[in-house]
Amino acid sequence: MNSARTQAGSRSSIQQWAAVSRPARPIVRELLINGPQTRTSLAKTLGLSTGSLTRLTKPLVQSGLLVERDIVHDPVNGRPTRPLDIVAEDFHFLGIKLTSTHVYAVVTDLRARVVAEAAEPIGDRQPESVIAQARNMMTRLSREGAEPVAAGFALGGHPQAPGETAAAEVFDAPFLDWWGIPLQPLLDDRMGIPCVVSNDVSALAHSQHWFGAARGLSDFALVTAGAGIGYSLFIRDHMVTATESNLREFSHHILDPGGPMCAEGHRGCVASYLSTHSILASAAHGLRRQVSIEEITRMAREGDAVCLQVTRQAGWALGAVIATVVNITMVKTVVVAGESVEVARTGKRHIERGMGHRRHRDYRSIDIPMLSADFTEWARGGAVAAIRTFVAGTS
Ligand SMILES: [Zn+2]
Repeated sequence: MNSARTQAGSRSSIQQWAAVSRPARPIVRELLINGPQTRTSLAKTLGLSTGSLTRLTKPLVQSGLLVERDIVHDPVNGRPTRPLDIVAEDFHFLGIKLTSTHVYAVVTDLRARVVAEAAEPIGDRQPESVIAQARNMMTRLSREGAEPVAAGFALGGHPQAPGETAAAEVFDAPFLDWWGIPLQPLLDDRMGIPCVVSNDVSALAHSQHWFGAARGLSDFALVTAGAGIGYSLFIRDHMVTATESNLREFSHHILDPGGPMCAEGHRGCVASYLSTHSILASAAHGLRRQVSIEEITRMAREGDAVCLQVTRQAGWALGAVIATVVNITMVKTVVVAGESVEVARTGKRHIERGMGHRRHRDYRSIDIPMLSADFTEWARGGAVAAIRTFVAGTS
């Protein structure tokens, strides 16, 4: 398959991708997401003439950004042809996910396949120190042979100005107690490669859309439950814009007015059932001692009455949220992620019970891909934000 690999030339800098013409970008996106394709098939998918497609791709093939793979018979007209492709292994991207306590780092190739990863507790919470720590992790991961050309930082927070990525001057990240931080200029100054800052839930949703559980789907929702509750909705391949205020309403949507209490005093809101804090508090209340999420899931499996009740409650709430989202948005897939999900998953049959309480028919046909509870996928979301911004020209 790599017979044309030599055309790719040496490892190129990210600037080559920045120089790709705007009309050629949909071709790059199509190849990135869906893999090698013949010119005829690409032209058909993108609504271009084969002449236009050849003209647009010629400079990209000449510069080595695109390559021609081995001859195949064109599925459209049966003629022998060489499919176009990108050389995913030629470029690497750093993805960073920051939580209140840890830095999670991955290095991926151009198709977001993880080639190296690391995690460390945050030393000093000052933004400059955290960035220095991320840069050190990048240096160590680069020694494994994959030097990133760009980076994406994904964290729970948002730019003070509206918008999802990069452009805003200052960033608030409540979990890190960062307020009004000029994160983008700091990253540009300290990381030594082009960087983009993204809200972590948005970054995760985009990465699942292109390279994950929602690949190939035009419409889907993502619900995350961890330190905070996250939500993202894709309709016709576009993320529906949501303000901080919209997302706060989602977190505190009441599922059961007789339910547990959240930090804002609501009874039975989504956060009161599914935030990590609520789950830990609920278990600690019953057990009369502090426990971890891992301990809750283990003890539930062993039949502990308190932990079983905690998983039952979380499972029901997750099911109720999923069915509510599906009822209103009419999507058929809800991707779920976050560390609390592990608890809900342990009470899996209760997820169905929660769905059944909110949706009268066909709730079993709702597809619910559950991502791993660790933070690798979130860090990968950061890398995908960099790929989207610096290669695909999308943000
Ligand atoms: Zn609440």
